Amino acid sequence: MSKKKIFSKRADELSLSPTLAFDAKVRMLQKKGKEVLNLTLGEPDFATPEYIQDAAIGAITSGFTHYTLVGGIEELRKAISKKLRKENNIRYDSSEIIVGAGTKFLLYELFQVLLDKGDEVILSLPTWSTYVEQIKLAEGKPVTIKLMPPFQLTAEAVEKKLSKKTKIILLNSPANPTGAIISKKELQNIVRLAKKHKLYIISDEIYEKITYGAKFVSPASLLTSMREHILTVNGFSKAYAMTGWRLGYVAGSQEIIAKMNALQSQTTSNATSISQKAGVTALTGPQQSIKDMVKEFTRRQNYLVKEFLTIPNLSFTPPEGAFYLFVSVERMLGKKFPSSEAWCRRLLEEEGVPVIPGEAFYYPGYFRLSFASSMEILEKATEKIRRFCKRYA
Ligand code: PLP
Repeated sequence: MSKKKIFSKRADELSLSPTLAFDAKVRMLQKKGKEVLNLTLGEPDFATPEYIQDAAIGAITSGFTHYTLVGGIEELRKAISKKLRKENNIRYDSSEIIVGAGTKFLLYELFQVLLDKGDEVILSLPTWSTYVEQIKLAEGKPVTIKLMPPFQLTAEAVEKKLSKKTKIILLNSPANPTGAIISKKELQNIVRLAKKHKLYIISDEIYEKITYGAKFVSPASLLTSMREHILTVNGFSKAYAMTGWRLGYVAGSQEIIAKMNALQSQTTSNATSISQKAGVTALTGPQQSIKDMVKEFTRRQNYLVKEFLTIPNLSFTPPEGAFYLFVSVERMLGKKFPSSEAWCRRLLEEEGVPVIPGEAFYYPGYFRLSFASSMEILEKATEKIRRFCKRYA
């Protein structure tokens, strides 16, 4: 009898999140007692604000610990609807909103319900690898636009990639890993282009609150006639330092939200009841913690931009949002460092500073440094990176 192969083709082609793979190496070095200044983190290094913690504790002690409506409690969807209206100038009723276990899973649901085999999704590089893997899991085809510094996506570049198979334009502004923000003018052009070709736009707005001067605009606010075709995706992870709570939402047409509800009802069911109650308080309570967090991120961003300008052979575009610096090491590549991956490995081994190679974002020649670390760590790590670059200059 011939032996059955273990994995599906789907699973065979699936790769582990590169960030997590790098994490394993970091842990190993730490276990050996080496000082590691970790600059790989994709989450704010702040505690979830206390008033949000209290709301969760209240949910537990009052027995709000059971299944809820699959797509989220009405109270939370109403609070999200209000937030979108007030802050983003977009109008979606609570029935046009779904709450799920983190933005990542909601994006997965979106690709599952919208894509058929071979349908194309246009997205720009560098990109968060999760998008590419999730599109492939839905049998869609990622069609990529390679952006050059300063990594600004334009409607013209999107138009060049259109084909009969294009179904979705995927936007992530402010972007992971570049921190670039798409200008209002370009967004307007992209939305018009999507309307002309009857395409969907998925707008991942998870970093909307973390900006350094440039103004963030939600594409759904730009053309109300496109509201049925734009899916606004956001969550609580970054703005409220709630990565572990797994809470996100999507606003869009009732038809699509209903289909996502069906998929969610057969997979995770509702997001954790306790997190949902905490989410209501996060949105309706004082927003000072966001201001404090962004103030601190701004201080770190200023410091890094100033220091990295003086490190030999590195170049970068100052981020307009999020909490990453995306740095080119292209001038140092050659025999000693055949790739940015090799460069990052050596930096980790020699200086104990882990950063994520550009390969993880489909953009070799670069690395991503996260400044979701204390100023003390950033100062130490910057000096180590400077020393490393001078050594090989
Ligand atoms: N979208 C982007 C661009 C991200 O960088 C991340 C996390 O790193 C997420 C979504 C995931 O957010 P969540 O914690 O809500 O799943």
